[in-house]
Amino acid sequence: MRVVIVGGGVAGPALGLALHRTGIEAVVLERRAVLDAEEGSYLTVGPNGLDVLATLGVRDAVEQAGFRTRHNVLHGASGRRLGTLSLAGTLAPGTGALTLKRSRLAAVLTGHARRAGVELRPGARVAQVGPGRVVLEDGTHVDGDLVVGADGVHSLVRCTIDPAAPAGRYVGLVNFGGVTRGTDVARTLTPEAWHLVFGSRAFFGAHPTPDGDVVWFVNVPRLPVTREERAATTEPEWRAQLHALVGVDPGPAGDLVADGRLELAGDNTYDLPHVPTWSSDRMVVVGDAAHAPSPSSGQGASIALEDAVVLAQALRDCPDTRTALVTYEHARRARVERVVSAGARSGSAKIAGPVGRRVQEAVMPLVFRYLVTDRSTAWMYDHRIDWGARVA
Ligand SMILES: Cc1cc2nc3c(=O)[nH]c(=O)nc-3n(C[C@H](O)[C@H](O)[C@H](O)COP(=O)(O)OP(=O)(O)OC[C@H]3O[C@@H](n4cnc5c(N)ncnc54)[C@H](O)[C@@H]3O)c2cc1C
Repeated sequence: MRVVIVGGGVAGPALGLALHRTGIEAVVLERRAVLDAEEGSYLTVGPNGLDVLATLGVRDAVEQAGFRTRHNVLHGASGRRLGTLSLAGTLAPGTGALTLKRSRLAAVLTGHARRAGVELRPGARVAQVGPGRVVLEDGTHVDGDLVVGADGVHSLVRCTIDPAAPAGRYVGLVNFGGVTRGTDVARTLTPEAWHLVFGSRAFFGAHPTPDGDVVWFVNVPRLPVTREERAATTEPEWRAQLHALVGVDPGPAGDLVADGRLELAGDNTYDLPHVPTWSSDRMVVVGDAAHAPSPSSGQGASIALEDAVVLAQALRDCPDTRTALVTYEHARRARVERVVSAGARSGSAKIAGPVGRRVQEAVMPLVFRYLVTDRSTAWMYDHRIDWGARVA
């Protein structure tokens, strides 16, 4: 069997690796010509995603590309501490999540897949998709027994499977990410934790790194950034705008933005709560193409990795491709849609207005004490996939 995978982000090379372990041939087509491991900003891989990376034999390499995150420490606009959430659910003390650049995660997965013998083609933009065949922008085609769309939230494969498939839903937030090097602020933040602030005008996050830097992001509630606005706005202009939003609150955000460098600017964020049809004759979607959670979930990469392994298991264990695709969807749909809903709830807390903010600050300490607890998030982080077992 030969599988054509559209998209070389997170799910694509992970699926290539997992299929390789089952003896199924795969080719991964990625539209970006240059896979730059330093572009863009950071994400967090949860303990469930790290477990998948261990199954794929790449966990150690990925861990070297990032740094440990054990907690989210949440603050209100006034600087008041609202609560602390473990990123390990009810797992043993000492476990946790990993924070790293999305592009480094993709680079490690891609490097391992290539070394294992998976064919990877950068600069291959897919323009048309059909059962078992994709046509590239240059007019050439690539054939296989199955086409997998690992092509992200704006997936072409999803729209080919079902032309009425929903598009990504704008979640009302524009994301910015940056780094401030060698700053004294690093020593004032809790190590191995995201310092998160429900600010009066924007949501802010900062994480000290083991090198004494601080990586940070700002989620700005606003209309999406247009192509023209992105093209017309310089890096210092974006930072001045961000400073005006986060510098009004007490805390380190203003200084970090003023002294830092933007690595991601004007990224409109989308989610995808429910895609009715995941597969049709010899085509299927995985990862964000099937179910994008808002970045607020902190789970997008982890559940994309889970999908990759479960689809490979289904193709390994089921008697035919159709049964495998149905089995994969049955195994995954309820869990991923639950993650997307949880992400949507976290995201909506970031866009409360001024009155909502005051209510939030009063109520959130209770929420983090009694409702959103290590136990209540355990279903997300404690999930494990037994590679040796037959997928049910
Ligand atoms: C700002 C931001 C912050 C995030 N933070 C987190 C976080 O903290 N934790 C977390 O787990 N997740 C986070 N996510 C989500 C996470 O990045 C995604 O959920 C994850 O990357 C999904 O992997 P994927 O492989 O499905 O899609 P992607 O990583 O989007 O990969 C899709 C790939 O397909 C390629 N492609 C698209 N169309 C074509 C085509 N026609 N032909 C060829 N190639 C194509 C793209 O170039 C891309 O490389 C964040 C996302 C954003 C935007």
